[in-house]
Amino acid sequence: MARMNKQWLLARRPQGAVQPSDFELVERPAPALAEGQLLVQHHYLSLDPYMRGRMDEAKSYAAAQQLGEVMIGGTVGEVVESRSSAFPVGSLVVGMGGWQQLSLSDGRGLLPAPRGIPESVCLGAAGMPGVTAWYGLTQIGKPKAGETVVVSAAAGAVGSVVGQLARLRGCRAVGIAGGARKCAHVEKELGFDACLDYKADDFRAALKAATPAGVDVLFENVGGPVLDAVLARMSAFGRVAVCGLIAGYDGQDISVRNARSILVNRLLVQGFIVSDHLALWPEALRELTGLVAGGQLRYRETVAEGLESAPRAFIGLLRGENLGKQLVKL
Ligand code: NDP
Repeated sequence: MARMNKQWLLARRPQGAVQPSDFELVERPAPALAEGQLLVQHHYLSLDPYMRGRMDEAKSYAAAQQLGEVMIGGTVGEVVESRSSAFPVGSLVVGMGGWQQLSLSDGRGLLPAPRGIPESVCLGAAGMPGVTAWYGLTQIGKPKAGETVVVSAAAGAVGSVVGQLARLRGCRAVGIAGGARKCAHVEKELGFDACLDYKADDFRAALKAATPAGVDVLFENVGGPVLDAVLARMSAFGRVAVCGLIAGYDGQDISVRNARSILVNRLLVQGFIVSDHLALWPEALRELTGLVAGGQLRYRETVAEGLESAPRAFIGLLRGENLGKQLVKL
C-alpha cells in the first residue's frame, strides 16, 4: 500500500500579513517510483523569510509559487525508497522537498547531509542561511581585522552567523535585534561585542555609543528605519551587503531616507541572492561545518513540532517570535 503524504499547499495570495487561511493541508498517497527516482521522508523542514516573497505575484528574482502547489522549502531527511544508485535507502539528504512529509526526487539538487554535525544544522548555520552570512560578509563586506561590522536581525539564522564570522576575523561585531531577551542571547551566548534593541526608545543613541569608530560593514537584513539609522553611522568607504529587507515583505514602505550617506561616505551598496553563487557554496560549507563541529560557531534553533504547525511557525518567524533558526520537526 502506498505511503500517505501530508502536504501544505498555497491556497491564496496573502493580502498584507500572512494568515493561516492562506494555506491548505491535504493528504495524498505518495507516488510510485520510476527508474532513477527516490522517496525522501523529511525529518526537518526549514522555514525562511524568502517564502513570503514567493507567495506574492510581484516581479522578483525568482518565479512566484503557483496557487495549489506544495509550499517551497528546504528539507533534510532519509531516503526510504529508491530506484537510484546514487542515493540508496538509508541515505541522509538535504534538498528542497517542500512543506510535506515525503518528497519524490530524481536526485537532482539533492546533497548528502554532512557528517559530524546534527542533521538540523544543514538547514541553518551549516546550510543556506550560513552560506548567506558567509557570502555577504566575505565577498561583499570584505571586513578587515579591527573594523566594525553591524548586522540586523542578529538573533536570527543568518544574522547570528554573520556576527560570529566577523568576530573570528578579528572585527568588532554589533548586532541589532528586537527585544532585551534576543539582545542578551546575542551578546552572552553568541559572543557579539554588543547587541542593540531597535524597538527601544534610545536605539539611535545606543547605536552611536556601540560604534564609536563608525561602521565599516553593514550586513542588512531588515531595511526601513533600522537601515537608515545605521547608514547615519557609516564610515568613509564602508560596504553595505543588502541581504534582506524583511521590514517591507508585507508591502510596508521601506524607502531609504538616508541616501545622502551613500554619497558622502562613498559607500559600496550591493544586494545579493545566495543561490546566484553556487560555485562558492562548497568553500563556505567547509568553513561553516568545520566551525560548528569545532564548537566555534554557536547556533540556536526554534523547533515547531509536526507538519501541521508549519503555517503558525512561519507567521511567527515573520513576526520575530523565533530565536535562531526556525525549523519544523516532522
Ligand atoms: P531570521 O531567523 O532572522 O528571522 C527573521 C527575523 O527578522 C525575525 O526573527 C525578526 O527578528 C526580524 N524582523 C521581522 N520583521 C522585522 C521588522 N519589521 N523590523 C526588524 N526586524 C524584523 O531569518 P533569516 O535569518 O532566515 O533571514 C534574515 C534575512 O536574510 C531576511 O531578510 C531574509 O529574507 C534574508 N535572506 C536573504 C538571502 C539572500 O540570498 N539574499 C538568503 C537567506 C535569507 P527581531 O525580533 O529581531 O525583529
